Amino acid sequence: MRIVIVGAGQAGGWVARALRDEGFTGQITLVGEEAHPPYQRPPLSKEVLLGDVPPEHCYLWPAGLDAELRLNTRVRSIDRSARQLRLADGGTIAYDRLCIATGGRVRRLDMPGAHYLRTIDDALALRAALLRGGSVLVIGGGWIGLEAAAAARRFGCSVTVVEAAARLCSRVVPPMLSEYLHGLHHRNGVTIACNATPDVAAHDTIIVGIGIVPNTELAEDAGLEVANGIVVDEYGTTSDADIFAVGDVAALNGQRIESWANAQNQAIATARSMLGKYTPYSEIPWFWSNQYDVNLQFLGFARPEDEVVVRGDVASDRFSLFFLSSDRISAMIAANSMKDIRAGKRLIERGISVSPDRLADPSQSLQDLLKA
Ligand code: NAP
Repeated sequence: MRIVIVGAGQAGGWVARALRDEGFTGQITLVGEEAHPPYQRPPLSKEVLLGDVPPEHCYLWPAGLDAELRLNTRVRSIDRSARQLRLADGGTIAYDRLCIATGGRVRRLDMPGAHYLRTIDDALALRAALLRGGSVLVIGGGWIGLEAAAAARRFGCSVTVVEAAARLCSRVVPPMLSEYLHGLHHRNGVTIACNATPDVAAHDTIIVGIGIVPNTELAEDAGLEVANGIVVDEYGTTSDADIFAVGDVAALNGQRIESWANAQNQAIATARSMLGKYTPYSEIPWFWSNQYDVNLQFLGFARPEDEVVVRGDVASDRFSLFFLSSDRISAMIAANSMKDIRAGKRLIERGISVSPDRLADPSQSLQDLLKA
């Protein structure tokens, strides 16, 4: 059997790896548009941008992977009846099972010379610009924008962040955390303008981080069901039983999760399903962000109607926010409090009923709540 994976990023790389880990001995072909082997992206807006690690540090399998890697290769279309991919260079690749892990591409503005941050090459180009110092305009107050702003301050640049929405990261964090992020950047010398449109004049470097567009075109053109992302079930199966999709491009239960952990873990579960060991994938979304000396961890998505419980001291940059519904935690956000996140995850997974007062009291061990 030949399994072909389109997209050689975090999700595609993990599908290939997991297939081998599961004992698959057939042929694996991984097709990627970039020149790099599969790599993870979190260090790009952090350590790589700052020059703390070389880009090769991001490679998923530095010792290599037992798979055929077709890099610098663009897939033009999927011919489902012939079960083959047609490549932009005129070639074809036959498959028995196919996994689409094409991820997303940055949303662009008509702004020549602006920097984006999605690939290793983007990160290196932006680093070179930041090393020159000067004034930086960041368009978009999301994760890319805020992490890039923090890095730019490390280079001594003057930094302005312009966000179109009323507050920072408004799609994924509650107002309280937007306020915290605003204060954190302000304290570190960043000017933030929300509800604002950028004035691009008089800036040496412009960074645009306004989200991504999922690369669904191949699936759409092949007649697969697409709704925001490629529609998949909990096994990663698309509307064609021999075609799977994972990572940023896949929509499960109507939602695409754009995160490192999802790309990896959905890929591992889907690889098993591709081999007939059907493994339902369901996980509490988790991601993190490092800005200045603050490590932020996010578990699940808070809902506006949730009760918010604060543990610790927000002003000291060490705190956890718990979001509760009927005394059960549905989501949490922790700043410089990794231990809380570990315990919180188990409280969420086990659906344990907790008293808001005990949660709010830092002298109460969260481990003890687990025993309740
Ligand atoms: P993002 O997190 O979706 O944030 C984009 C932000 O830009 C949103 O707040 C958006 O507001 C705003 N925006 C949209 N159009 C704008 C405009 N014309 N002018 C000003 N602001 C505008 O996307 P991102 O920061 O570009 O990151 C790209 C991807 O990388 C995402 O999947 C992100 O999760 C991921 N990433 C993750 C991390 C991490 O987990 N630590 C770090 C970096 C990147 P609206 O929401 O109102 O559109």
